[in-house]
Amino acid sequence: MRTTTCADRAETREELARTAYDLLVIGGGILGTSVTWMAAQAGLRVAMVDAGDFAGATSSASSKLVHGGLRYLQTGNVRLVAENHRERRALAADIAPHLVKPLTFLVPIYKGGPHGAAKLGAGVFLYSALSVFGDGMGKVITPHQAMARVPALRSEGLRAAAVYGDHQMNDSRVAVMTVRAAADAGAVVLNHAEVVGLRKTGGDVAGTVTGADLRDRLDGTEFGVSARLVLNATGPWVDHLRRMEDPDAAPSIRLSKGAHLVLRRHEPWKAALTTPIDKYRVSFAIPWEDHLLLGTTDEAYEGDPGAVGATEADIAQILDEAGHAVRDSQLRREDITYAFAGLRVLPGGPGQVAAAKRETVLTRGSGGMLSVAGGKWTTYRHIGRHVLDTLAHLPGQPLGDDLADILPAVPLPGLASPDAVAMRLWTDRDPGARMDPLVARHLATHYGSIAFDLARLIREDPALGERIHPDGPDIWAQAVYARDREWAATVDDVVRRRTTLTVRGLDTPDVRSRIAALLT
Ligand SMILES: Cc1cc2nc3c(=O)[nH]c(=O)nc-3n(C[C@H](O)[C@H](O)[C@H](O)COP(=O)(O)OP(=O)(O)OC[C@H]3O[C@@H](n4cnc5c(N)ncnc54)[C@H](O)[C@@H]3O)c2cc1C
Repeated sequence: MRTTTCADRAETREELARTAYDLLVIGGGILGTSVTWMAAQAGLRVAMVDAGDFAGATSSASSKLVHGGLRYLQTGNVRLVAENHRERRALAADIAPHLVKPLTFLVPIYKGGPHGAAKLGAGVFLYSALSVFGDGMGKVITPHQAMARVPALRSEGLRAAAVYGDHQMNDSRVAVMTVRAAADAGAVVLNHAEVVGLRKTGGDVAGTVTGADLRDRLDGTEFGVSARLVLNATGPWVDHLRRMEDPDAAPSIRLSKGAHLVLRRHEPWKAALTTPIDKYRVSFAIPWEDHLLLGTTDEAYEGDPGAVGATEADIAQILDEAGHAVRDSQLRREDITYAFAGLRVLPGGPGQVAAAKRETVLTRGSGGMLSVAGGKWTTYRHIGRHVLDTLAHLPGQPLGDDLADILPAVPLPGLASPDAVAMRLWTDRDPGARMDPLVARHLATHYGSIAFDLARLIREDPALGERIHPDGPDIWAQAVYARDREWAATVDDVVRRRTTLTVRGLDTPDVRSRIAALLT
């Protein structure tokens, strides 16, 4: 496996600068990573760079759902739901069963709410039919049955609840595993490397984009990358890059901010809640990483994408909307461990952002650069394949006939049954020296069989088996592994995206300074 640690970033920069690539992907969110992975599988020489950390922007700020999108039935987009379901089930069954887990959802139906039981019952039935009842049949249950699954559910005015099945994930971990899959397939990747300009051949204005100028954000080094084709996968920054290609490029997208909160949980949650707020919007309350994830807002956003964050008004709105269905005792401000926000990329056009279609926007600029943005995390492989197909068939065929067919389903690294991995991590050592079952479970569900590599690190240095913070399951071996094998270069890379320390509110100054020492 090709890994890039802080120490060999210089080596990777040199490799990037001296190789003539078939494809340069700008942006290491899940869309850029997906295209990189697919292109490497097709035999292309491909490089991917990100200005920040991989998945450091939108791709780690999602609702963490791998879903068909019940909401899209509302807008009549049956084909999109069926397509999302297919991808969801492929991810959960074949690609990443170690990282993507099933979750039951309840839609509570209250007296005076925006949708009645008959409509929602028909909706969840159709929703489950569109995934060929792979997660059971969508149906309506009684308030008593609903409260047995979610004791924190508000009972006043509760008439019934509709039930359906979807999946969830830790988006940052799935993203880093996908970067690793791309690197395993031969891609060269570098995070914290910002594209500051595009290289053109055939003239500065009318020329073709054949590379980029970059600046390493960690040490300021400047370097360049050359490629036959350049893909702009910079999510909310997509138009910024398009304007580097053509200063007169018209806007192609608009942005909508979605904020989330993570709270400590006081009761068991055997299901998530999807609570209708109005005709289009829902509020999610999702058991996630032993906590409760609440969201999300949906407001037009016009500021700097890099400055997006959850504001006091977002926090108040999320708690208020969650309160439609969740008891106050589960919505205390002092229980908030983390708040974050991301930007949805929506096709440009008039109308409310909440009602806009969540579609992928694909454009080609005057310099030949292809830009892709928007769409769902859930369908990232599908979008990656579609973009690769588009690249292969561009007018003039800049990639020629150099693409091999790719296999339909290549699993992510670490593919294994998480139950089997957790069991082996626990039983591999003698009683008395056994791994804590909670830590074993945490490693199995965030690394799959790669957890055995972490166990090896602990065998060599037992101190790495200790918890980073006593209140969470993350251990020091994860931080070392993140540094050495997962491109983590800053404290935030480790605490926010390689481990669950930040979401659990455990990235204390002491934890941060010990991780900083480890990274240097
Ligand atoms: C609030 C919210 C909730 C969502 N929930 C879900 C969900 O539950 N399920 C689901 O399926 N989908 C969900 N989505 C959609 C999904 O998260 C996005 O479609 C997906 O993450 C987009 O990925 P991306 O790679 O296009 O963008 P990003 O992840 O934003 O990646 C773009 C990257 O480009 C980099 N970049 C920018 N400028 C430069 C430059 N000059 N040089 C180099 N790199 C640069 C950035 O650093 C960034 O990492 C949600 C989206 C939002 C906003």
